[in-house]
Amino acid sequence: MGVREKLQQVREKVRLAAVRAGRDIEKIKIIAVTKRVEVPRIREVVQQGIVDLGENRVQELTEKITVLPADLHWHMIGHLQTNKVKYVVGRVHLIHSLDSWSLAKEIQRHANNLGVVARVLVQVNISGEKTKYGLLPEELADFLLALRDLPQISVHGLMTVAPNVKNPEEVRPYFRELRLLAAGHNLEHLSMGMTNDFEVAVEEGADMLRLGTAIFGSREN
Ligand SMILES: *Cc1c(COP(=O)(O)O)cnc(C)c1O
Repeated sequence: MGVREKLQQVREKVRLAAVRAGRDIEKIKIIAVTKRVEVPRIREVVQQGIVDLGENRVQELTEKITVLPADLHWHMIGHLQTNKVKYVVGRVHLIHSLDSWSLAKEIQRHANNLGVVARVLVQVNISGEKTKYGLLPEELADFLLALRDLPQISVHGLMTVAPNVKNPEEVRPYFRELRLLAAGHNLEHLSMGMTNDFEVAVEEGADMLRLGTAIFGSREN
């Protein structure tokens, strides 16, 4: 199956999940995760109307931004090291992975230098797995409060990476918790749901799905 057919299937699954949950499909954005995907195949999804692209490594992100059309929206979805912030701020539509105060300060500094406002989501480690980045749910309130002192950062929502499990029903409680956290802080956007669990994520309120394998097939290397 080609990228076009895969994308069609994904869109249909998203539509059905939205119908099940009584949600407006127009409000759900598919972000095509292009890590380790070659530029010609990325162009194929762009031709199918995808405008949001996600990368988790800064180097790949910057390489691809320069060769693909300028009107695409790039999303930084992976852990961002403070020394790489300068390559990201001012270039991406949204940083999904704000996960520490030191990173916030660095984003603020570069955004200020450029005279821009950096749009971010705060990453939350809902499952509490040691291997995952993100704030713990109980740290979120203080973190959001502190961010108010950084005027060049605007917080648009929350992001999480759910545990990798066979049965996506197992992660439903994590998605639900993220939604409740966001609602409690009046945050609009929820970046949650990957290839294995995006239908559950839609049912639980996700409005940004980060999909790699579902669209491009498995990443062999
Ligand atoms: C790779 C990646 C994805 C996409 O994963 P798939 O399972 O291939 O859909 C989503 N989010 C993040 C943070 C990633 O690194």
